[in-house]
Amino acid sequence: MKMSNLYAPTSKEAPSDAVLASHALLIRGGFIAQVASGLYNLLPLGKMVLNNIETIIKEELGHIGAQEVELSFVTPAELWGESGRIEKFGKELLRFKDRKDNLFVLGPTHEEMMVNLIRNKVTSYKQLPLHLYQIKTKFRDEARPRFGLMRSREFIMQDGYSFHQSYEDLDREFDAVEASYKKILDRLELSYRVVEADSGAIGGSGSKELMVLANSGEDTLVVCNSCEYGANIEAATRAKGLTDKGQSSIKLQKVHTPNIKTIDELSTYFKTTPDRIVKTVAKKIIFDDNEEIVLFFLRGDDSLQETKALNAVGGLGIVDVDEDELKAKELPAGFMGPMGELKIRMIVDNDLMSETDMICGANEVDYHYKGMDISAIQTDVYADIVEVKEGDKCPKCGGILGYKKGIEVGHIFKLGTTYSKALNAEFLNNNGQAEFFIMGTYGMGVSRLIAAIIEQHHDEKGMIWTKQSAPFVVNIMVSNIKKQEQLDFAEELYKFCQKNGINVLLDDTKERFGYKMKNAELIGFPYTVIIGKELQNGCVQLLRRESLQKTDIKKEDIFDYLLQEI
Ligand code: ATP
Ligand code: MG
Repeated sequence: MKMSNLYAPTSKEAPSDAVLASHALLIRGGFIAQVASGLYNLLPLGKMVLNNIETIIKEELGHIGAQEVELSFVTPAELWGESGRIEKFGKELLRFKDRKDNLFVLGPTHEEMMVNLIRNKVTSYKQLPLHLYQIKTKFRDEARPRFGLMRSREFIMQDGYSFHQSYEDLDREFDAVEASYKKILDRLELSYRVVEADSGAIGGSGSKELMVLANSGEDTLVVCNSCEYGANIEAATRAKGLTDKGQSSIKLQKVHTPNIKTIDELSTYFKTTPDRIVKTVAKKIIFDDNEEIVLFFLRGDDSLQETKALNAVGGLGIVDVDEDELKAKELPAGFMGPMGELKIRMIVDNDLMSETDMICGANEVDYHYKGMDISAIQTDVYADIVEVKEGDKCPKCGGILGYKKGIEVGHIFKLGTTYSKALNAEFLNNNGQAEFFIMGTYGMGVSRLIAAIIEQHHDEKGMIWTKQSAPFVVNIMVSNIKKQEQLDFAEELYKFCQKNGINVLLDDTKERFGYKMKNAELIGFPYTVIIGKELQNGCVQLLRRESLQKTDIKKEDIFDYLLQEI
């Protein structure tokens, strides 16, 4: 390709709402153009990067025997009714009717469609396992589309679905997909962590996320400093700390605590550490058809992890409660606690189990209890609801846990029979009995990967593409196209690269040299060969984008040099 033919409208200005480097640079480099909130056009350079990523994905998934299909984007809402997700997905699901008044949705994910594709067609264990995938547009009407390609409403996902006759076989496939996804990220030269993830309301036994490490990432990861353990903060656990046990058989005592509400104030007042105080957190949980205030109890030095809290009660959403709503339930803010016959759902953190001699609110303004035993709480619902803190101990090895920021680029999930049951998809096992398919589902954010690569690979001058993702690996820049000698040599090198399968661009534009250089740095070709004045002395210059290092190379050597480097 010649630069003079390339449609890449670069600009100096970044859009005013661009907070991420990837968003600003993709627009400035002429890779994408915004259509509306969360909707983008991919221009030639953006499409080339996307194609490169897709090629790598297809190669790697091909190696594990996954087969590519392409399902209809427009999906009959009926299928979503069968799975029950039409309600659960809420407003992210775009619904519309056709001229005959049939309801459809724009697929945000394709579990239902994929089960529908094989049900009553794959009927015997002999046809299993089966792994089908597609690379396809998805639509999610995100509440806050932002960050360019990172969180858009229309985006491209590689989504795979596998069908098995046993859980062992699902485990094998899950591991194979994990290895395959890791290879894809390795080939893209990304540094990442595979972390344990929240399996959410869909349930399922195992779920992992592939997180590209970047300070701009929206996800918080908990990672161990001495072993491989890593988990999304929504799913992270910790080794139980050794807190001093309270004394048993202490008498329960009501204490006047005028206007003393916070954990800090209480620990000063009672001359104790925060972990000896029961923290009460009230939240409103949204269910399918109602909402309910739920009280969560944890140690005073811990905080509530909302996703864990939500999973513990099986709701769809979790929101804060205001003081008036609390008052209506006779719950005094600052003095709430687990004692008494409360007609309200209560969840106690596992870490408090069988704890004694604690301090807690008395559900009466200006009063707390001391000498309280957790076993006196009238609930039997214990769950892990705490957010792991930096400095907590690793659940695997006892090492120290810390935080990192990550971008979720992939999610792999052991679904089990959730969807095959809901959509009644069965096969006959080797004893001739009907069983539901055991499923896995695997998703990779292909368009999000474009942004993720940039988040990890850019500098103040622009993007720095990795070799396998770059729209062009080599940019041959003619410094002054009026010099025939420069043009001729550039053409010769260009043809050589093409013949040898090097993805090459020839910058034959009549722009000034300085402008061309700025553009090359902004667009981020891994290598730029500058053909300029030095050609008279038999030399060209090679600019490595990552280091910005320039090397003089004899013109006859540049051919072999490029072959070896690439
Ligand atoms: P997130 O937590 O970031 O909203 P998700 O957990 O809802 O993502 P999945 O349903 O697991 O996403 O989808 C699989 C992959 O699709 C994600 O790992 C991510 O890479 C990509 N993806 C999801 N939502 C978007 C989006 N709005 N824009 C771009 N890519 C997305
Ligand atoms: Mg996910």
